[in-house]
Amino acid sequence: MIDLHCHILPGVDDGADTIEDSLAMAKKAISQGITHILCTPHHNNGRYENVKESVIHSVSLLQTEIDKHNLDLTLLEGQEVRITGDLITEINQDRILFTDLDDTYILIEFPTMDVPAYTEQIFFELRAMGKVPVIVHPERNAKLRENPDLLIPFLEMGCLGQLTAPSIVGVFGKSIQKTAKEMVARNLVQMVASDAHGIKKRTFYMKEAYEIIGKENGKEKITLMKQVTRDLVNGETVTYPAYEKKRKRKFGLF
Ligand code: FE
Repeated sequence: MIDLHCHILPGVDDGADTIEDSLAMAKKAISQGITHILCTPHHNNGRYENVKESVIHSVSLLQTEIDKHNLDLTLLEGQEVRITGDLITEINQDRILFTDLDDTYILIEFPTMDVPAYTEQIFFELRAMGKVPVIVHPERNAKLRENPDLLIPFLEMGCLGQLTAPSIVGVFGKSIQKTAKEMVARNLVQMVASDAHGIKKRTFYMKEAYEIIGKENGKEKITLMKQVTRDLVNGETVTYPAYEKKRKRKFGLF
């Protein structure tokens, strides 16, 4: 299993603090059936920078430790990129890591409470450059949780959505869980990743999330989502069933 979004690198953001924390996370990941982790520290979220070269360096140091401890886990380099007005410039300056080596898919985080007005313009420019924005944990964003249909214009531009595993398990409460389930059922998100920050509350929950997804949507959905995850790492084209429009409530019939 691949985990596309994880704060396992030590001392670079609000994820693992020390190498020991990272190794504990690695063991927990392996116990979940995870074989590959895309290390995605926060980039430009107001607190952390984590530019491309520094992430590459940290990943190689942690991989050495993981190998030394005979842990069967492969780390890959990534970033969780907070959307800012400077994103295109930063890409042009080679400061950004994508999920694949061809620089196609980019994990984009919105601020928690808002979808910035300039998002559409930036996504339009990214699409024109042949890049695919992947909106991370839309179910945790206040605006998108209130109205998941706000994702539709972005999906129609060719963007994707990544659900966070603990959300659908219920770790962030009932409201986020309900939205998470709706987004999966309606194909508003096409993949799941842990966004794990440690081994306690915000941990992997990948196994549990896939179990819920399979139970509520059929095993086929798990296969599709896992394929999307592989496509993102390999830079392959994603094929996924189209989103479903919200079913209208029937009333006034009787
Ligand atoms: Fe994250």
